[in-house]
Amino acid sequence: MNQERVCLDCGTPLQGRADKKFCNDLGRNNYNNQLTAIAITPSLVGVPQVSGCCVVR
Ligand SMILES: [Zn+2]
Repeated sequence: MNQERVCLDCGTPLQGRADKKFCNDLGRNNYNNQLTAIAITPSLVGVPQVSGCCVVR
């Protein structure tokens, strides 16, 4: 029961609730924005996205 989950936006390992999919709301927003951008602009598929939602310094 220790399935590893990662943020769907940036890939950072998630801890806490089992239903979490993103590290925070910003990650979720980034993810949704990317989906929208890809749907509108197919050429964006495969372009690396720099995510700021999980930057830890
Ligand atoms: Zn994230």
